[in-house]
Amino acid sequence: MQIQAQLPQIPVQTLIQRNEIQLDLKRLDLVHPQISGNKFYKLKYNLQQAQQQGKTAVLTFGGAYSNHIAATAYAAQMLGLESIGIIRGEELAQRPLNPTLQTAHEMGMQLEFISRQTYQQRHEPDFLQQLHSQFPDCYLIPEGGTNALAIQGCQEILTSEDLNHYDVFCCAVGTGGTLSGLIQASDSRHQLLGFSALKGEFLTQEVKQFTDKSNWKILDDYCCGGYAKISPELIQFIQTFEQQYQIPLEQVYTGKMLMGIFDLIQQGFFQSGTRILAIHTGGLQGRAQELGDMPKISV
Ligand SMILES: *Cc1c(COP(=O)(O)O)cnc(C)c1O
Repeated sequence: MQIQAQLPQIPVQTLIQRNEIQLDLKRLDLVHPQISGNKFYKLKYNLQQAQQQGKTAVLTFGGAYSNHIAATAYAAQMLGLESIGIIRGEELAQRPLNPTLQTAHEMGMQLEFISRQTYQQRHEPDFLQQLHSQFPDCYLIPEGGTNALAIQGCQEILTSEDLNHYDVFCCAVGTGGTLSGLIQASDSRHQLLGFSALKGEFLTQEVKQFTDKSNWKILDDYCCGGYAKISPELIQFIQTFEQQYQIPLEQVYTGKMLMGIFDLIQQGFFQSGTRILAIHTGGLQGRAQELGDMPKISV
């Protein structure tokens, strides 16, 4: 079995339509019920490569709430590959699995819990070599799934119609892989805005490694103080948004991005006549319970 090479048409929904601004949302959350959103695109060429290399398993890294871990476990199972998840935090081995890890486990992922200190070595050649000898025959995917093949996959998020129709593309940023793919698909007519889920400048440096273009910017003003942190404003925004549009969001990525876009629109940040396409990158498996019931996923 293969991951579908050609995706069906992804629905685009209009959120704001005024003379001076148009905001549409591309619903990657509807790509696949479990391998949702950008993770599908990031995994696509990596898993093809794993199969072509005759690997029997994929190994990757993540925190306890990682959408990437859940998506990789599903996709590997679908393709008949084994999966191994190196999970940050050895104390978690002692505790009941949270829903993300439980899902991964049910999909047959072997979970290996390591200390936060060891986890810091996840990019170091020595550590990766050690993992290779511990798990031979594994295809290695970095944390968050970001590498050159992931970026190649993410270029396919934007169709030629999207590129012809919109001026600005927006997405949430975790490792920057998705934004890098959008940047690579774009040309000088376009502007790209990444809404960081984390605090700090380092993501701009990361993305610079993947592109020479300069038509993009990452903002961390809407990250609510850091990764997975929330604020009452964010919760309020998500609940109001979901009620108004009947589109589910989550609090780590897509909620922060849309809160940011709506705020920038209100501030008059965008030139009159700007057409914006925001990418709903999915991740709904990690939606917090405190947001209340999720609107029924429909278009
Ligand atoms: C993983 C994830 C992101 C971040 O993607 P990167 O390519 O790591 O920047 C954004 N949104 C959602 C919902 C995610 O799960």
